[in-house]
Amino acid sequence: MEKGDAVLLGGPAADDFARVEGLDIVDQNYFTTEKRVQALAAMKAHAAAGTAAKASESEKHGTVGAVALDASGHLAAATSTGGYNNKPAGRIGDTPIAGAGTYARDGVCAVSGTGKGEYFIRYAVGHEVASRVRYLGESVDQAAENVIMEQLRPYAIGAGLVAVGADGSVTMPYNTAGMFRGWVTPVGEFFVATHDDVYTL
Ligand code: ASP
Repeated sequence: MEKGDAVLLGGPAADDFARVEGLDIVDQNYFTTEKRVQALAAMKAHAAAGTAAKASESEKHGTVGAVALDASGHLAAATSTGGYNNKPAGRIGDTPIAGAGTYARDGVCAVSGTGKGEYFIRYAVGHEVASRVRYLGESVDQAAENVIMEQLRPYAIGAGLVAVGADGSVTMPYNTAGMFRGWVTPVGEFFVATHDDVYTL
């Protein structure tokens, strides 16, 4: 963001850029964890047995997303993922695609999503939420609720997102049993939740 004007870099050039800018570089095996190895094995077994649709959310995927509104009114979104377990080689999910799994636009909202990326790409979920806010005049909460609960729920793919509006309102709808989430207000109040109950830190 601060060096050059490209929005998205990929492949070896992205690695070179990171190296030159002094980011920590690690071996690929740094990203291998026991939990993910087990999840991959479980998904391979599900695929062989034809039961992939019955896999748990944690067997299928794992993603961390964040959205923020800063003191100057700028909005930002970030998403990090290992993608969908047992995905085909070369598959690119929604997470790095601006407007799909990750999207922020000043004056509108910032969105970070989780769920089967192919649907997030087809529905341009981040941009869809922002468009509903911008062009239909919905609140961020209404827009996000519509996309997760009405547009995506019929596919039973398990989807959720975190979003913050230009007014600082936050919303975190999910159509799964639960979703780990937390948020902090401008006055420093912290909240966490996994299901319906919300806890103050
Ligand atoms: N959206 C991610 C993907 O499809 C997976 C996830 O949300 O955990 O790559």
